[in-house]
This record gives sequence, C-alpha cells and structure tokens, in this order.
Amino acid sequence: LKRKGFSSVPDVKWEDVGGLDSLRTEFHKNIIRPIKYPDVYKEEGIKTETGFLLYGPPGCGKTLIAKAVANEAGANFIHIKGPEILTKYVGEAEEKVRRIFSDARTCSPCILFFDEIDSLTKKRGTEGGSGGDRIVNQLLLELDGGDRRKGVYVIGATNRPDVMDQTLLRPGRFGKLLYVPLPNQDERGLILKALSRNKRLDADVDLMAVARSEACENFSGADLSNLMMIVTNAAFEEKMSKIEAASREGTSSQK
Ligand code: ATP
Repeated sequence: LKRKGFSSVPDVKWEDVGGLDSLRTEFHKNIIRPIKYPDVYKEEGIKTETGFLLYGPPGCGKTLIAKAVANEAGANFIHIKGPEILTKYVGEAEEKVRRIFSDARTCSPCILFFDEIDSLTKKRGTEGGSGGDRIVNQLLLELDGGDRRKGVYVIGATNRPDVMDQTLLRPGRFGKLLYVPLPNQDERGLILKALSRNKRLDADVDLMAVARSEACENFSGADLSNLMMIVTNAAFEEKMSKIEAASREGTSSQK
C-alpha cells in the first residue's frame, strides 16, 4: 500500500467501535470486501456502492467508524475537515477539489472522508456564495469520474443532510445514506465496553448497569467517552494518593 504524507492507515479497530452493526455490514460488503478480494469482484462483474453519507447527531461515531473501515480494509485514509479545505489547499475552489481527489488516487485504495460536508456543499444558488457552487460542481465532476475514481471511496459526514445540494446524494456520489443514531441502552453498554477495551476494570464494575442508569440517558458516544475519562482519572487520583501516602509513611518511619 502506497503511503503519502497526506494519508495514513488509521489505528482505530472494529473493536473500538461500539454498536453500529448495520453500518459495519454495509461497509464490509461495499468497501472492505471489494478491497480485500478485488479479483473475485472483477471475475463476477460485481459493482458495489463507493459513496456514502453518514448523518445524525454529533458525537455518535461517524468519524470513528470511517477510520475503522479504512483500518479494517488496510486502506489509506484522507481526512478533509469541512471548511478547512478553503484554507489548507491553495488555488481556486475547483483546483482544491481536484487536488484532493488526485491525492486520493495516488494512494488508493483510499477512503476520502469529508467531515462537516454540509459546510462545503450548500444547495447551489443559495447564500454561501459562488465559491460554494464551484466546489459542488467540481465535486460532481470528480465523483462521476468513473474509472478514474477507481479505488477511491468517499464517505461524507454531516448533522444537516437537508442543507446539502441534493444532487450530491444520487447513487455513485454520496449515494448511500446511513443514519448514525444516538445509542440506545444496549448500544451504550457496547460503547462503554469498546471504550474500556484497554483498561483494567475492577471485577465488580457492571458496564451494562451504568449504561442502563438514568444519568446516561440521551448520552452520545462522545459523552460516554468523556464519562470514561472522568472515572479513569478519578481512579488514578485514588491510586496516586495511596502511593503518596505510602511514600510519606516510608519517609517518616525512616526518621
Ligand atoms: P461529529 O458530528 O461531532 O463530528 P461524530 O459522529 O463524527 O461527531 P466521533 O468523532 O466519531 O463522532 O466520536 C467522538 C468520540 O466519541 C470518539 O472518538 C469516541 O471516543 C466516542 N464515540 C462516539 N461514538 C462511539 C461508538 N459508537 N463507539 C465507541 N466510541 C464512540
């Protein structure tokens, strides 16, 4: 796999993602398997979806699962952070978009992830100026690039699919819309499990009970991650206080 300065294979694993099972299946069938077994797909003449739009409330795993897909497929990942393309890449709007796709082609198989894609792709002819229209037009050209796009999968993420130029959502473009919901009780448990994968938990910690508790109702994955950080730090504080107390006792008994 070719590596470029602007891309890398993310280190997020499937196991780091809690829940989102139907999304895993979609990505497995449409991205991971075709990348891993290109010959079988070619032989059978099977084409799969190459463009996806993840939508839903913030902090529920859109970025996380996109990275895990790249890791699982062993593919490169290019992260375009919304409006940042306007400042990070030089040249006219069209040139910037062209550059991103040509970068992606040079390191294919590659997942091109557009975060906050709504900020770049407002409906054409609305406020936001002609710069926005030009980005949408160039995106359409690149997405419809057929064979030229080979090995470049696009995933967009947004909380506002409704404000996007709807022509972008046709098949072959960001054609497969996948909703990433706020987790339910069971899914909160799975997320807590994923978040504590590399942590040492006391035997009496019941993650499912935490997930069921009223305090966690309406928590997003990001909220659960924050909760996990708070309890980890609290446990560490407790441990440090013990170490410091033992060390103080040690010094005083030496006197
Ligand atoms: P935004 O719309 O704000 O960009 P997002 O949907 O892309 O949000 P992420 O950036 O993927 O959200 O999630 C933020 C953090 O929350 C993750 O890095 C992770 O720690 C935690 N998290 C969110 N969802 C999950 C999940 N399903 N499983 C495990 N961790 C999660």
